Amino acid sequence: MNDQTTVSTATTPPGTGCSNTAPASGPTGSPAPPRSYTERSSAIGGHIVCGQRNFLDRAIFEGRLTLAQLGLVDAGRQDTPPTALGTWAHWYTQCSLRAQFKSVTGDFTFTGFDEAAAKAAAPPAESIRLAEQLFSSPAAAQQAVHNIAGLVIQRLPGKGHEWMAECAGEIPGILTGHIDLLTSDLEHLVDIKTTGQMPENGKMKPEHLWQLVAYALLVLHHTGKPPHYAHILYVDRHGDWVCRSKALDFYDVSGQALLRELYHWLEVTKNNAYAPTPVFGPHCDGAWCPYRQICRDASVPGAAAVVRRHEPVAVSSNPFTGP
Ligand code: SF4
Repeated sequence: MNDQTTVSTATTPPGTGCSNTAPASGPTGSPAPPRSYTERSSAIGGHIVCGQRNFLDRAIFEGRLTLAQLGLVDAGRQDTPPTALGTWAHWYTQCSLRAQFKSVTGDFTFTGFDEAAAKAAAPPAESIRLAEQLFSSPAAAQQAVHNIAGLVIQRLPGKGHEWMAECAGEIPGILTGHIDLLTSDLEHLVDIKTTGQMPENGKMKPEHLWQLVAYALLVLHHTGKPPHYAHILYVDRHGDWVCRSKALDFYDVSGQALLRELYHWLEVTKNNAYAPTPVFGPHCDGAWCPYRQICRDASVPGAAAVVRRHEPVAVSSNPFTGP
């Protein structure tokens, strides 16, 4: 359908408007006031794929559960070399595009490249040093970042567009997010993923699909219309390959259905207080979910012995006579 979507967030219930960075304790050590969780676009994929993770993240944020009660240590939000490289490569790409960096929530209007704003958004030096650990030398790291930017720019949709970077959106009490790249006319929204793994069969992951839909909801909320197309741009962290996903089309009925579905999910889950069943899958692995060990220990019976066949097993050749 070549028309603007009819999905609206105008019925957004009044929220607390609080962000997820509220202090953990009140002044002078008094008990922290209850905090209400606002879904983040970057986490929504994991929360839709597994309700258990959604429940645990919310319960911990709101203080209904502690990591200690789960037997987990609070490692804080630690940067790793791959995430630091991602941050650096994102910024370098956005600057190379002369994208306008946005810092005010709800500002989706392009007014021109602003070098001071771009420089203010630069990653800290320690983050760059961390990213350099992935390479044989700082020069090799710089070259990789340069190659990543070149690949991304080569595969961007919408040639000749002007771009905005880090557009921040918020539906109070419901959803927040920062958008990597958005064209000034809202035609194309792009999320960049620096990764070591090619997307399977060239398809975006379901978690990433929902992240795009979340960003589109934020654009719709602030501008009155969603972006026309949304893409994930997967790029190799060594700058060797790039893959732009097939686009989601939010002017089509299929895209409008996704917007409605996600908004419904956000409304239903925003006050959830139940512990749903874990949904095991590839999304649990690696460093992706912090609960994977306790989740498996709690849900899957313990380890069993594996018996190897050292000698012929005495089983009758006639299966009807028993062993
Ligand atoms: S480990 Fe897997 S099943 Fe358990 S909470 Fe995390 S994503 Fe869900």
